Amino acid sequence: MNGPEIQLTFAPELRLFLSADRRRPGAAVITDGVSTLGHVVESLGVPLTEVGRLCVDGRPVPVSHVPAAGESVEVEAVTRPQEVPGAPLRFLLDVHLGTLARRLRLLGVDAAYESEDLGDPALAALSAAEQRVLLSRDRGLLRRREIWAGGYVYSDRPDEQLRDVLSRFAPRLAPWSRCTACNGPLQDADKDAVREHLEHGTRRTYDVFAQCAACGRVYWRGAHHARLQAIVESAVSEFGAAAV
Ligand SMILES: [Zn+2]
Repeated sequence: MNGPEIQLTFAPELRLFLSADRRRPGAAVITDGVSTLGHVVESLGVPLTEVGRLCVDGRPVPVSHVPAAGESVEVEAVTRPQEVPGAPLRFLLDVHLGTLARRLRLLGVDAAYESEDLGDPALAALSAAEQRVLLSRDRGLLRRREIWAGGYVYSDRPDEQLRDVLSRFAPRLAPWSRCTACNGPLQDADKDAVREHLEHGTRRTYDVFAQCAACGRVYWRGAHHARLQAIVESAVSEFGAAAV
């Protein structure tokens, strides 16, 4: 290919997506002369969901800009917290992010997730239909045009994944308000009313506090409570006030 040569500099956060020879600031890239800058960036492996401003010789340009020879392009990362306009902030997680989905729900964040793999086309369509931010570690999935909005999850460790999503999108936290099993809303439960759902030992020992309005699951302060409480306290202390 003999198209125009441009220089590309990617923000440090984006360099993990690039092959080693493109990570150097000002790396030369030959384009085809007709592709948009968005296409060029994506073809180098960087999902556009992760890209903030694009600047040519210091001036911001849209992703539709067609780069010309000699241009020096800076590719910035999305700013944090990232505004996702147009709908209440809610998420859809791919099949590999089950632990993250349960932790977001624990914090009251709307996080749709199916443990069975729906496949990329169905996930992308669901993101569009329900206006959910699609979270994934799969770059191919995030490149799909249909998705309403997306975010790459940088770590494979649930603790870091949670901090990544909370710092990036700053969702409002409302701990203990959502079912970790199905994402439905929790309502206050009376111990007598949910008695038949409980094992005898549980009935004797624990105070029931909530029941899922969608799936009926009953929540009480049981064996896992201290661990969950620690996750909640850490998230609330770092990422904002809880609605109690
Ligand atoms: Zn439920």
